[in-house]
Amino acid sequence: MAAEREHEHVRVAVIGSGFGGLGAAVRLRRAGVTDFVVLERREAVGGTWHDNTYPGCACDVPSHLYSFSFAPNPEWPRNFSGQEHIRAYLERVADTFGLRQHIRFNSEVELMSWDPEELHWTITTGQGRQLTADFVVSATGPLSDAKIPEIPGLEGFGGKVFHTAQWDHDYDLRGKRVAVIGTGASAIQVVPAIQPYVEKLTLFQRTPAWVMPRADRKITRLEKLLHSKVPATRYLRRQLLWGIRELQVSAFAKHPNVLGLLEKLASSHMKRSVKDAGLRRKLTPEYRIGCKRILLSNNYYPALAEPNVDLVASGLKEVRGNTLVASDGSEAEVDAIVFGTGFHVTDMPIAHRVKGADGMTLAEKWTGGMEALRGCSASGFPNFMTVIGPNTGLGNSSMILIIEAQLNYMIDYVKKLDALGGKVALDARPEAVNAWNAHIQDRMRRSVWNTGCDSWYLDANGRNTTVWPGTTAEFRNVTKEVRLEEYEVRRAAAQGSAASSRTTVTGAAGRGSATAAFHAAEEG
Ligand code: NAP
Repeated sequence: MAAEREHEHVRVAVIGSGFGGLGAAVRLRRAGVTDFVVLERREAVGGTWHDNTYPGCACDVPSHLYSFSFAPNPEWPRNFSGQEHIRAYLERVADTFGLRQHIRFNSEVELMSWDPEELHWTITTGQGRQLTADFVVSATGPLSDAKIPEIPGLEGFGGKVFHTAQWDHDYDLRGKRVAVIGTGASAIQVVPAIQPYVEKLTLFQRTPAWVMPRADRKITRLEKLLHSKVPATRYLRRQLLWGIRELQVSAFAKHPNVLGLLEKLASSHMKRSVKDAGLRRKLTPEYRIGCKRILLSNNYYPALAEPNVDLVASGLKEVRGNTLVASDGSEAEVDAIVFGTGFHVTDMPIAHRVKGADGMTLAEKWTGGMEALRGCSASGFPNFMTVIGPNTGLGNSSMILIIEAQLNYMIDYVKKLDALGGKVALDARPEAVNAWNAHIQDRMRRSVWNTGCDSWYLDANGRNTTVWPGTTAEFRNVTKEVRLEEYEVRRAAAQGSAASSRTTVTGAAGRGSATAAFHAAEEG
């Protein structure tokens, strides 16, 4: 780890060391930029895959697609690998690509302010440490800050309370009466994982989810061997997984009625496990499949059919002592509450800590809704980009594809700054951001995400500011380069007044060797 210095200046500061931050670090090094730091609030890499350790936590995008193109892993154990394998993969990425020297652990960003005179960002992290950076890559991700709803009486609850993303492994749920709140992707993994050993599980379901079968299985030794010895097989597998998902996009984004066919599949999936017609009625959604994220599980419905599980088809409204009260008046006395209530996605706390050119925070800028040119650049926030920014999320494919596309944009951004020369900044033009956003919102009108359900894709104003309404190939295309006409070029009044260590972007330095080393490590 590099030593903290007073008045330290870096070319690039990357915030977060999840997939986005580690990917940014790899791409910067491969482009010959070594003067950068990765600021990570935790004590280890992984981001959301470090934080989410709840029982049953796994990814519902196949691992051969949910991994970096430049760090393939022939050893993925399952189609849908568990959290511990994904976290371990990210640790190996950090090691193999020589990223640890750049990472500052336990460095939570408290404030980032743009200095319009010096044309750099001043970043204050925990313990009041400060550094400045020419360019900031905010890779904090949308699933990083757990959300617990304000429930009257919760503070008076005498039992244990935690969120799925903050699992307390020291608290033993065995033999306890446990309430799980929510039926999103996290909760439906927790329920079957803990149902066998809790005394009683009460699930508070405000809105039922559409749940499809999960084509999960172990990846055989033969497949692993093939993927390791014949890389083309690995590549083909990834391309197939990718292609199938690209073909689905038109139904989600333009022809939601076609998705009705999936509802039949999901309904018969439920029927196979839930014999009680009354329970099936409670579990059947009344919105078009895909409007909320489609969930994949083979063990959620069987768990709900077990005698120690009660489904309360109503949201949690109030807590009275140790009794949980639902909106429909049902009550359950419990020892522990597990909130699977999601994350601050459209109101991410980091936005309150970023101050742009006119002193306004990103949160203030986004009062009317998040928006950023090509998902990367908010106007008034020069030399700053978001990885998994506004309208970059996917409902059906791998976010790693989006992240890698944004990292192409990042490298071109840094190259463009180099080419302009001197102390320089690029600030997205408001009209370019508006045009981009109007185009996105116009496309959104026909999509399944706007068919009337309430979901975390929508912000407080009811606008979808999270999902990308196109294919990943299209996103890659629109982020392949920074178009200078979409930015204002700002120059420092007094050139060279700040201590700047400028590294010229050189191209693909070290590309082959690090990727080869990753393969070797995997094969070993
Ligand atoms: P989420 O999808 O936002 O789900 C939150 C759940 O909490 C919803 O069911 C919501 O109900 C419910 N809720 C909120 N307040 C409630 C209340 N007072 N009473 C009862 N229920 C309440 O959060 P998440 O499950 O953590 O998933 C977030 C995202 O993380 C996913 O969509 C996915 O992108 C990612 N993720 C992926 C995986 C995977 O790959 N398998 C696993 C976990 C997470 P309403 O529907 O009524 O709002």
